[in-house]
Amino acid sequence: MDIKNLQRENIKNLRPYSTARDEYKGQASVFLDANENSFGSPLPENFNRYPDPLQLDVKDAISKIKGVPIENTFLGNGSDEAIDLLFRCFCNPGKDNVIILPPTYGMYEVSANINDVEIRKVNLLPNFQLDLDGIAEAIDENTKLIFICSPNNPTGNSIIRTDIETILANFKGLVVIDEAYINFAKQRTFIQELTEYPHLVILQTFSKAWGLAGLRLGMAFASSIVIDILNKVKAPYNISQSTQDLALAALQNVTQVNDWIKVTVAEREILSQKLLGLPMVSKVYPSDANFVLAEVADAAGTYHALVDQGIIIRDRSKVVLCDGCLRITIGTPQENEILLSALKSIN
Ligand code: PMP
Repeated sequence: MDIKNLQRENIKNLRPYSTARDEYKGQASVFLDANENSFGSPLPENFNRYPDPLQLDVKDAISKIKGVPIENTFLGNGSDEAIDLLFRCFCNPGKDNVIILPPTYGMYEVSANINDVEIRKVNLLPNFQLDLDGIAEAIDENTKLIFICSPNNPTGNSIIRTDIETILANFKGLVVIDEAYINFAKQRTFIQELTEYPHLVILQTFSKAWGLAGLRLGMAFASSIVIDILNKVKAPYNISQSTQDLALAALQNVTQVNDWIKVTVAEREILSQKLLGLPMVSKVYPSDANFVLAEVADAAGTYHALVDQGIIIRDRSKVVLCDGCLRITIGTPQENEILLSALKSIN
Protein backbone atom coordinates (compact mmCIF):
# COMPACT_ATOMS: atom_id res chain seq x y z
CA MET A 1 0.00 0.00 0.00
CA ASP A 2 1.50 3.34 -1.02
CA ILE A 3 0.27 5.92 1.47
CA LYS A 4 2.11 8.69 -0.36
CA ASN A 5 -0.26 8.22 -3.29
CA LEU A 6 -3.28 8.83 -1.05
CA GLN A 7 -2.35 12.46 -0.47
CA ARG A 8 -3.58 15.25 -2.67
CA GLU A 9 -1.29 16.04 -5.59
CA ASN A 10 -0.80 19.67 -4.48
CA ILE A 11 0.22 18.45 -1.02
CA LYS A 12 2.63 15.93 -2.48
CA ASN A 13 4.26 18.76 -4.45
CA LEU A 14 4.09 21.29 -1.60
CA ARG A 15 7.27 22.90 -0.42
CA PRO A 16 6.46 23.57 3.27
CA TYR A 17 7.28 26.80 5.09
CA SER A 18 10.72 26.68 6.59
CA THR A 19 10.91 28.38 10.00
CA ALA A 20 13.96 30.04 11.50
CA ARG A 21 14.15 27.13 13.93
CA ASP A 22 14.00 24.61 11.06
CA GLU A 23 16.94 26.30 9.42
CA TYR A 24 19.11 26.58 12.55
CA LYS A 25 18.45 24.02 15.28
CA GLY A 26 21.53 24.29 17.53
CA GLN A 27 22.46 26.42 20.57
CA ALA A 28 23.71 30.01 20.21
CA SER A 29 24.22 33.06 22.41
CA VAL A 30 22.48 35.58 20.17
CA PHE A 31 19.38 34.77 18.15
CA LEU A 32 18.55 37.46 15.60
CA ASP A 33 16.93 35.26 12.98
CA ALA A 34 13.18 35.23 13.71
CA ASN A 35 12.19 38.89 14.16
CA GLU A 36 11.18 38.21 17.76
CA ASN A 37 11.29 40.83 20.50
CA SER A 38 14.86 40.49 21.79
CA PHE A 39 14.08 42.27 25.09
CA GLY A 40 11.59 39.79 26.50
CA SER A 41 7.85 39.71 27.06
CA PRO A 42 5.63 41.64 29.49
CA LEU A 43 5.02 38.49 31.56
CA PRO A 44 6.84 36.84 34.48
CA GLU A 45 7.81 34.02 32.13
CA ASN A 46 9.31 34.84 28.78
CA PHE A 47 7.27 34.01 25.72
CA ASN A 48 9.24 36.18 23.31
CA ARG A 49 10.67 33.21 21.40
CA TYR A 50 8.74 31.05 18.94
CA PRO A 51 7.99 27.57 20.27
CA ASP A 52 9.41 24.29 18.95
CA PRO A 53 7.42 23.66 15.72
CA LEU A 54 7.58 19.88 16.29
CA GLN A 55 7.07 19.91 20.10
CA LEU A 56 9.80 17.30 20.60
CA ASP A 57 9.97 17.52 24.41
CA VAL A 58 6.21 17.01 24.78
CA LYS A 59 6.23 14.15 22.28
CA ASP A 60 9.12 12.55 24.14
CA ALA A 61 7.14 12.67 27.42
CA ILE A 62 4.05 11.28 25.64
CA SER A 63 6.09 8.47 24.11
CA LYS A 64 7.26 7.41 27.58
CA ILE A 65 3.62 6.93 28.60
CA LYS A 66 2.13 5.60 25.35
CA GLY A 67 5.13 3.80 23.90
CA VAL A 68 4.74 5.50 20.51
CA PRO A 69 7.94 6.84 18.92
CA ILE A 70 8.15 10.59 18.31
CA GLU A 71 8.17 10.12 14.53
CA ASN A 72 4.76 8.44 14.79
CA THR A 73 3.22 11.26 16.83
CA PHE A 74 1.50 14.46 15.68
CA LEU A 75 0.25 17.14 18.08
CA GLY A 76 -2.56 19.51 17.17
CA ASN A 77 -4.75 22.24 18.62
CA GLY A 78 -7.15 19.60 19.92
CA SER A 79 -7.84 16.45 17.92
CA ASP A 80 -10.11 18.71 15.90
CA GLU A 81 -6.99 20.11 14.20
CA ALA A 82 -5.86 16.60 13.24
CA ILE A 83 -9.33 15.82 11.86
CA ASP A 84 -9.28 18.95 9.70
CA LEU A 85 -5.71 18.29 8.53
CA LEU A 86 -6.63 14.77 7.41
CA PHE A 87 -9.17 16.31 5.04
CA ARG A 88 -6.79 19.00 3.82
CA CYS A 89 -3.95 16.53 3.20
CA PHE A 90 -5.80 13.57 1.72
CA CYS A 91 -9.16 14.64 0.25
CA ASN A 92 -9.54 16.44 -3.06
CA PRO A 93 -12.49 18.84 -2.69
CA GLY A 94 -15.34 18.02 -5.05
CA LYS A 95 -13.82 14.66 -5.97
CA ASP A 96 -12.96 12.42 -3.01
CA ASN A 97 -15.32 11.12 -0.35
CA VAL A 98 -15.14 9.95 3.27
CA ILE A 99 -17.24 7.53 5.27
CA ILE A 100 -18.71 8.41 8.63
CA LEU A 101 -20.81 6.17 10.84
CA PRO A 102 -23.68 8.05 12.53
CA PRO A 103 -24.58 8.60 15.26
CA THR A 104 -21.07 9.84 15.92
CA TYR A 105 -18.92 12.85 16.76
CA GLY A 106 -20.10 15.88 14.78
CA MET A 107 -16.79 17.36 13.68
CA TYR A 108 -16.06 14.72 11.02
CA GLU A 109 -19.08 15.96 9.08
CA VAL A 110 -18.38 19.65 9.73
CA SER A 111 -14.75 19.30 8.66
CA ALA A 112 -15.82 17.44 5.51
CA ASN A 113 -18.28 20.23 4.68
CA ILE A 114 -15.71 22.96 5.33
CA ASN A 115 -13.32 21.18 2.98
CA ASP A 116 -16.04 20.52 0.37
CA VAL A 117 -15.59 16.76 0.60
CA GLU A 118 -18.46 14.34 -0.05
CA ILE A 119 -19.73 12.48 3.01
CA ARG A 120 -21.08 8.93 2.77
CA LYS A 121 -23.04 8.05 5.86
CA VAL A 122 -23.43 4.44 6.90
CA ASN A 123 -25.50 4.38 10.06
CA LEU A 124 -24.45 2.12 12.90
CA LEU A 125 -26.69 -0.91 13.43
CA PRO A 126 -29.35 -0.67 16.17
CA ASN A 127 -26.82 -2.22 18.58
CA PHE A 128 -24.48 0.70 17.74
CA GLN A 129 -21.98 -1.60 15.99
CA LEU A 130 -20.59 -1.33 12.44
CA ASP A 131 -22.69 -2.21 9.39
CA LEU A 132 -19.79 -3.90 7.61
CA ASP A 133 -21.82 -4.71 4.47
CA GLY A 134 -23.08 -1.13 4.24
CA ILE A 135 -19.55 0.20 4.64
CA ALA A 136 -18.22 -2.16 1.95
CA GLU A 137 -20.94 -0.95 -0.45
CA ALA A 138 -20.25 2.73 0.27
CA ILE A 139 -16.52 2.50 -0.49
CA ASP A 140 -15.31 3.38 -3.98
CA GLU A 141 -11.95 4.32 -5.49
CA ASN A 142 -12.31 7.92 -4.27
CA THR A 143 -12.95 6.99 -0.63
CA LYS A 144 -10.00 8.38 1.31
CA LEU A 145 -10.99 8.24 4.98
CA ILE A 146 -13.22 6.20 7.29
CA PHE A 147 -13.87 7.65 10.75
CA ILE A 148 -14.49 5.05 13.47
CA CYS A 149 -15.13 6.57 16.88
CA SER A 150 -14.44 4.00 19.61
CA PRO A 151 -15.69 4.42 22.29
CA ASN A 152 -18.30 6.23 20.25
CA ASN A 153 -19.75 9.63 21.06
CA PRO A 154 -22.72 9.91 21.82
CA THR A 155 -23.54 6.20 22.27
CA GLY A 156 -20.66 5.40 24.63
CA ASN A 157 -19.96 1.87 23.37
CA SER A 158 -16.69 0.51 22.02
CA ILE A 159 -16.74 -0.83 18.49
CA ILE A 160 -16.09 -4.59 18.24
CA ARG A 161 -12.37 -5.00 17.71
CA THR A 162 -12.58 -7.67 15.01
CA ASP A 163 -14.94 -5.43 12.98
CA ILE A 164 -12.35 -2.66 13.02
CA GLU A 165 -9.72 -5.23 12.01
CA THR A 166 -11.93 -6.28 9.07
CA ILE A 167 -11.97 -2.67 7.86
CA LEU A 168 -8.22 -2.35 8.36
CA ALA A 169 -7.68 -5.52 6.33
CA ASN A 170 -9.91 -4.46 3.43
CA PHE A 171 -9.97 -0.67 3.09
CA LYS A 172 -7.18 0.97 1.11
CA GLY A 173 -7.64 4.53 2.38
CA LEU A 174 -6.88 5.80 5.89
CA VAL A 175 -8.74 4.20 8.79
CA VAL A 176 -9.10 6.86 11.48
CA ILE A 177 -9.93 5.48 14.93
CA ASP A 178 -10.95 8.27 17.28
CA GLU A 179 -9.99 7.09 20.77
CA ALA A 180 -10.86 10.32 22.60
CA TYR A 181 -12.52 8.25 25.37
CA ILE A 182 -10.17 5.23 25.37
CA ASN A 183 -8.93 5.85 28.93
CA PHE A 184 -12.39 5.00 30.28
CA ALA A 185 -12.81 1.83 28.20
CA LYS A 186 -12.40 -1.85 28.92
CA GLN A 187 -11.28 -2.31 25.32
CA ARG A 188 -7.60 -1.69 24.69
CA THR A 189 -6.21 0.94 22.33
CA PHE A 190 -5.18 0.16 18.74
CA ILE A 191 -1.79 1.83 19.35
CA GLN A 192 -0.02 -1.56 19.33
CA GLU A 193 -1.38 -2.17 15.83
CA LEU A 194 0.32 0.92 14.34
CA THR A 195 3.37 -1.06 13.25
CA GLU A 196 1.16 -3.47 11.31
CA TYR A 197 -1.03 -0.97 9.44
CA PRO A 198 0.53 2.02 7.62
CA HIS A 199 -2.97 3.35 6.90
CA LEU A 200 -4.11 3.42 10.54
CA VAL A 201 -4.51 6.80 12.25
CA ILE A 202 -5.37 6.92 15.96
CA LEU A 203 -6.69 10.11 17.51
CA GLN A 204 -6.42 10.75 21.24
CA THR A 205 -6.77 13.93 23.25
CA PHE A 206 -5.81 15.72 26.45
CA SER A 207 -9.38 17.08 26.67
CA LYS A 208 -11.06 14.14 28.42
CA ALA A 209 -9.24 11.93 30.94
CA TRP A 210 -6.31 14.35 31.16
CA GLY A 211 -8.60 17.19 32.25
CA LEU A 212 -7.07 19.71 29.83
CA ALA A 213 -9.90 20.63 27.45
CA GLY A 214 -9.02 24.29 27.92
CA LEU A 215 -5.41 23.75 26.86
CA ARG A 216 -6.32 22.48 23.37
CA LEU A 217 -3.96 19.60 22.76
CA GLY A 218 -4.76 16.54 20.69
CA MET A 219 -2.65 13.65 19.46
CA ALA A 220 -2.60 11.67 16.23
CA PHE A 221 -0.56 8.48 16.06
CA ALA A 222 0.22 6.95 12.67
CA SER A 223 2.95 5.69 10.34
CA SER A 224 5.76 8.21 9.88
CA ILE A 225 4.63 8.74 6.28
CA VAL A 226 1.22 10.00 7.44
CA ILE A 227 2.72 12.04 10.30
CA ASP A 228 5.23 13.71 7.95
CA ILE A 229 2.38 14.76 5.66
CA LEU A 230 0.38 16.25 8.57
CA ASN A 231 3.48 18.09 9.82
CA LYS A 232 4.18 19.48 6.37
CA VAL A 233 0.71 21.06 6.12
CA LYS A 234 0.06 22.22 9.70
CA ALA A 235 0.66 25.85 10.70
CA PRO A 236 4.37 26.13 11.59
CA TYR A 237 3.84 26.93 15.29
CA ASN A 238 0.51 25.21 15.90
CA ILE A 239 1.13 24.48 19.59
CA SER A 240 1.95 27.51 21.75
CA GLN A 241 4.89 27.61 24.17
CA SER A 242 2.49 27.86 27.11
CA THR A 243 0.60 24.77 25.95
CA GLN A 244 3.86 22.87 25.53
CA ASP A 245 5.09 23.93 29.01
CA LEU A 246 1.79 23.07 30.70
CA ALA A 247 1.43 19.75 28.87
CA LEU A 248 4.94 18.76 29.99
CA ALA A 249 4.03 19.61 33.59
CA ALA A 250 0.72 17.70 33.33
CA LEU A 251 2.48 14.64 31.96
CA GLN A 252 4.32 14.36 35.29
CA ASN A 253 0.93 13.90 37.00
CA VAL A 254 -0.20 10.63 35.46
CA THR A 255 -1.08 9.21 38.91
CA GLN A 256 -3.68 11.92 39.46
CA VAL A 257 -5.16 11.26 36.02
CA ASN A 258 -5.35 7.51 36.66
CA ASP A 259 -7.10 8.14 39.98
CA TRP A 260 -9.74 10.31 38.27
CA ILE A 261 -10.27 7.64 35.60
CA LYS A 262 -10.97 5.05 38.32
CA VAL A 263 -13.45 7.33 40.10
CA THR A 264 -15.15 8.28 36.82
CA VAL A 265 -15.59 4.64 35.81
CA ALA A 266 -16.97 3.74 39.26
CA GLU A 267 -19.31 6.76 39.21
CA ARG A 268 -20.46 5.82 35.69
CA GLU A 269 -21.72 2.49 36.99
CA ILE A 270 -23.34 4.04 40.09
CA LEU A 271 -25.05 6.78 38.06
CA SER A 272 -26.23 4.28 35.43
CA GLN A 273 -27.86 2.11 38.12
CA LYS A 274 -29.47 5.06 39.86
CA LEU A 275 -30.77 6.50 36.59
CA LEU A 276 -32.35 3.15 35.77
CA GLY A 277 -34.16 3.33 39.08
CA LEU A 278 -36.00 6.50 37.98
CA PRO A 279 -39.48 5.99 36.46
CA MET A 280 -38.75 8.42 33.59
CA VAL A 281 -35.67 6.45 32.44
CA SER A 282 -36.40 3.49 30.18
CA LYS A 283 -32.84 2.59 29.22
CA VAL A 284 -29.23 3.44 30.05
CA TYR A 285 -26.83 2.18 27.42
CA PRO A 286 -23.65 0.49 28.67
CA SER A 287 -20.79 2.97 28.36
CA ASP A 288 -17.04 2.70 27.88
CA ALA A 289 -16.69 6.50 28.05
CA ASN A 290 -17.03 9.31 30.62
CA PHE A 291 -20.69 9.83 29.79
CA VAL A 292 -23.85 7.75 29.50
CA LEU A 293 -26.66 7.81 26.98
CA ALA A 294 -30.05 7.44 28.64
CA GLU A 295 -33.46 7.02 27.02
CA VAL A 296 -36.16 8.97 28.84
CA ALA A 297 -39.91 9.52 28.46
CA ASP A 298 -39.62 13.19 27.44
CA ALA A 299 -36.08 14.14 26.42
CA ALA A 300 -36.67 17.79 25.49
CA GLY A 301 -38.88 18.39 28.55
CA THR A 302 -36.35 16.79 30.89
CA TYR A 303 -33.50 18.75 29.32
CA HIS A 304 -35.30 22.09 29.83
CA ALA A 305 -36.41 21.22 33.34
CA LEU A 306 -32.77 20.54 34.24
CA VAL A 307 -31.66 23.80 32.61
CA ASP A 308 -34.16 25.59 34.86
CA GLN A 309 -32.33 24.07 37.84
CA GLY A 310 -28.93 25.15 36.49
CA ILE A 311 -27.92 21.68 35.31
CA ILE A 312 -26.84 21.29 31.71
CA ILE A 313 -26.70 17.97 29.88
CA ARG A 314 -26.94 17.25 26.15
CA ASP A 315 -30.23 16.56 24.39
CA ARG A 316 -29.37 14.01 21.69
CA SER A 317 -32.98 13.00 20.96
CA LYS A 318 -32.91 14.40 17.42
CA VAL A 319 -29.83 12.36 16.50
CA VAL A 320 -30.29 9.23 14.37
CA LEU A 321 -30.77 6.02 16.47
CA CYS A 322 -30.90 8.17 19.62
CA ASP A 323 -34.65 8.87 19.81
CA GLY A 324 -35.59 10.05 23.30
CA CYS A 325 -31.97 10.06 24.46
CA LEU A 326 -30.02 12.40 26.70
CA ARG A 327 -26.24 12.33 26.98
CA ILE A 328 -24.95 12.89 30.49
CA THR A 329 -21.28 13.51 31.32
CA ILE A 330 -20.13 11.77 34.51
CA GLY A 331 -19.57 14.47 37.11
CA THR A 332 -18.05 14.38 40.57
CA PRO A 333 -20.01 12.18 43.03
CA GLN A 334 -21.58 15.38 44.40
CA GLU A 335 -22.60 16.65 40.94
CA ASN A 336 -24.11 13.29 40.07
CA GLU A 337 -26.19 13.38 43.26
CA ILE A 338 -27.39 16.91 42.43
CA LEU A 339 -28.42 15.67 38.97
CA LEU A 340 -30.25 12.66 40.40
CA SER A 341 -32.22 14.66 42.94
CA ALA A 342 -33.12 17.21 40.24
CA LEU A 343 -34.38 14.39 38.01
CA LYS A 344 -36.42 12.99 40.91
CA SER A 345 -38.07 16.39 41.35
CA ILE A 346 -39.18 16.48 37.68
CA ASN A 347 -42.56 14.89 36.94
N1 PMP B 1 -13.29 13.17 19.29
C1 PMP B 1 -14.39 12.91 20.00
C2 PMP B 1 -15.03 11.58 19.84
C3 PMP B 1 -14.93 13.86 20.85
O1 PMP B 1 -16.05 13.58 21.52
C4 PMP B 1 -14.30 15.11 20.97
C5 PMP B 1 -14.81 16.22 21.86
N2 PMP B 1 -16.08 16.19 22.28
C6 PMP B 1 -13.16 15.35 20.23
C7 PMP B 1 -12.67 14.35 19.41
C8 PMP B 1 -12.47 16.67 20.24
O2 PMP B 1 -11.42 16.66 21.09
P1 PMP B 1 -10.43 17.88 21.21
O3 PMP B 1 -10.86 18.65 22.40
O4 PMP B 1 -9.11 17.21 21.38
O5 PMP B 1 -10.48 18.69 19.94
